[in-house]
Amino acid sequence: VNGVQPEKVDVLIVGAGPAGLMMAEWMAKCGIKTRICDKRGTKIFNGQADGLQCRTLEIFDSFGFGHRAWIESNHMLEICLWNPDKDGIIRRSDRIPDTIPGISRFQQVVLHQGRIERFFLDSIESCSDIRVERGVMPSKLELNQTLVEDNDAYPITVTLRHLSEEEATPQQQTGISTNGTSVMDGLFRSNIAPDDTQDLLNDSAHLNGKANTEEVIQAKYVLGADGAHSWVRNQLGFKLEGESTDYIWGVLDIVPITDFPDIRMRCAIHSASAGSVMVIPRENKLVRLYIQLTTTEKIGDSAGARVDRSKITPQTILQAAQRIIAPYKLDYRKLDWWTAYQIGQRVGTQFSSHERIFLAGDAVHTHSPKAGQGMNVSMQDAYNLGWKVANVVKGIASRDILKTYQSERRRIAQDLIAFDHRFSRLFSGRPAKDVMDEEGISIQEFKNAFEKGNMFASGIAVDYGSSLIVAKQGNSTDQGDGTDVGVHNPDYQVLSIPTLATKVEVGKRIPSHKILNQSDARPSHLHELLRSNGRWRIITFAGDIRDPVQAAKLKNVGTKLAAPNSFLKRFTPSGGRYDDVFEVLAIHNAPRTQVSFFDFPEVYRNFDEIEGWDYWKIFVDGQSYHEGHGQIYENLGIGPAGCSVVLRPDQYVSYVGPMDAYDELDKFFSGFMVTQEKGKKVVLS
Ligand code: FAD
Repeated sequence: VNGVQPEKVDVLIVGAGPAGLMMAEWMAKCGIKTRICDKRGTKIFNGQADGLQCRTLEIFDSFGFGHRAWIESNHMLEICLWNPDKDGIIRRSDRIPDTIPGISRFQQVVLHQGRIERFFLDSIESCSDIRVERGVMPSKLELNQTLVEDNDAYPITVTLRHLSEEEATPQQQTGISTNGTSVMDGLFRSNIAPDDTQDLLNDSAHLNGKANTEEVIQAKYVLGADGAHSWVRNQLGFKLEGESTDYIWGVLDIVPITDFPDIRMRCAIHSASAGSVMVIPRENKLVRLYIQLTTTEKIGDSAGARVDRSKITPQTILQAAQRIIAPYKLDYRKLDWWTAYQIGQRVGTQFSSHERIFLAGDAVHTHSPKAGQGMNVSMQDAYNLGWKVANVVKGIASRDILKTYQSERRRIAQDLIAFDHRFSRLFSGRPAKDVMDEEGISIQEFKNAFEKGNMFASGIAVDYGSSLIVAKQGNSTDQGDGTDVGVHNPDYQVLSIPTLATKVEVGKRIPSHKILNQSDARPSHLHELLRSNGRWRIITFAGDIRDPVQAAKLKNVGTKLAAPNSFLKRFTPSGGRYDDVFEVLAIHNAPRTQVSFFDFPEVYRNFDEIEGWDYWKIFVDGQSYHEGHGQIYENLGIGPAGCSVVLRPDQYVSYVGPMDAYDELDKFFSGFMVTQEKGKKVVLS
């Protein structure tokens, strides 16, 4: 435009909601040249999604801001199930733990989306010059298909339009009346987010300066994280498939005044005939009520006709809740946010175009808000994609790994919809009157579903299928979407030996247990070592290295890893730090005081002329002075022979094999990594 050369960026992210910000976070941590734009003039301040599952907290922690969410949020520890008794009066029928004990070092918490977006923004700002450009949206998107396989090309051309302040100011949801209440249904400044004033000032100055202008940029990769109505998806001509009926949910965030005894617990309350409500206790004395509204009027008779949302007000939602919770009383003086949320259960047909333009989050899956999954799964999509794009942009990995984004995440989206479908029926169904009432939902059925659902909802159960970055048995074409993401060249095929670590599941994130640093005896969780910075990890579980057999294997693998032609050397850019691409860690289980740091080969404790030895790569499964014994060998099912484990940069297990299986590791990485000397994919001799 105007004869100016288009700016070139590696990655353009459209949409700065949870999915877009997660992608920007990866790009910031990996040093990738990125722009991120959002059509909204301001970030959101309260309301919307709120539940953070334990896997999401693990991910936040790996970026360094998990503690902020953990401290500020409300922790939900117990779910109470309420059902009608034989007289139709609601009674507590069960209590179950909210997060299954022992699956993670975090438990489910709730905190509003605006704060979560704040943590991302602060983190991105602290380590990069990436800034969300607000009031900016694409108006044209073109992909030059002849260039898609050229790693150095910028095949995507995007025209960005800078909106005026008026255009970028978020609107109330059309058709919803606040009926006299001063509280809006979407965006207003919450008293719990006082630190955004400067942002707003900066944004408005920025908007004024460039309003109504356009610019053209060229990108290597684009992520459409632009929500359920995704413009990027529409440009690509991709569809969402699924149910045509939309459900209407009323959501009310209030400070409740009530005599209901479990208002600070997460509750699922089924009334005999007035419907169901989900109670979510939140930060700042707030409680969220989710109600599937059944009494709204439809405009028109056809199936899937749109509901007249102007009939839904905070009062309608409150009255529905009052009917369900009776004979207990429920009212409020403080209303923080409310919305009517209309949603169908749908999954995108395709998650990428030529592995150049990707879609993530609500742009490729929509479902009900009940199980608190929307924001979590959206962020986890981008968490899956970000490091892959960064590895490819940096020339470390070949473009082949990008295919695994769709194969891994589309299956999760399909599972999510199936889960939501089952859960919806149970949640919205009428409670059974007695054991003969086959149409009604029995208390036991509901409880079982909740318990099973909790494992899925935690995010911990995610199990990625076999591919060139997940070395396990499985039909590589059986990815749920017909995409072949398997090992393309059988010469590189490597399979794990699961019996060497019986509780480490290849394709799942590695469980975390405490270990001690060999050099200073400090305990830390394994996950605390696995920072999200784009690096692959090779962990040698060396066993008891006082045993000459174990010591010999350790020496052997150490020598091979350090050899001039080892894959560590071939795939690490020359001039880069020794752990830029691979971090080599050792965890042994000899008594800490009977072995020394210097008993380990140098590849586990690299030396730097200025910084000396690296003391943060050798650990022991031992008793700490103050925090007990993590028993990591026992908990991961690792025997005396030890093993080696390869972890992807997102902590998912790629490979489990013998401790000194150097050749297998070399083969595995040669399947998708790029030799640095020649600048092209390695060919094994
Ligand atoms: P979004 O959060 O939708 O973010 C998309 C971003 O893209 C937005 O910032 C938008 O402004 C921007 N954008 C859109 N189009 C363009 C464009 N053309 N150009 C540039 N930018 C664009 N989930 C729950 O779990 N519980 C809830 O109670 C709940 N309530 C919700 C209430 C509402 C009103 C909405 C809209 C969603 C709610 N959700 C809830 C869902 C949850 O918020 C989403 O699943 C989650 O935010 C998805 O994240 P995302 O980043 O994919 O999309």
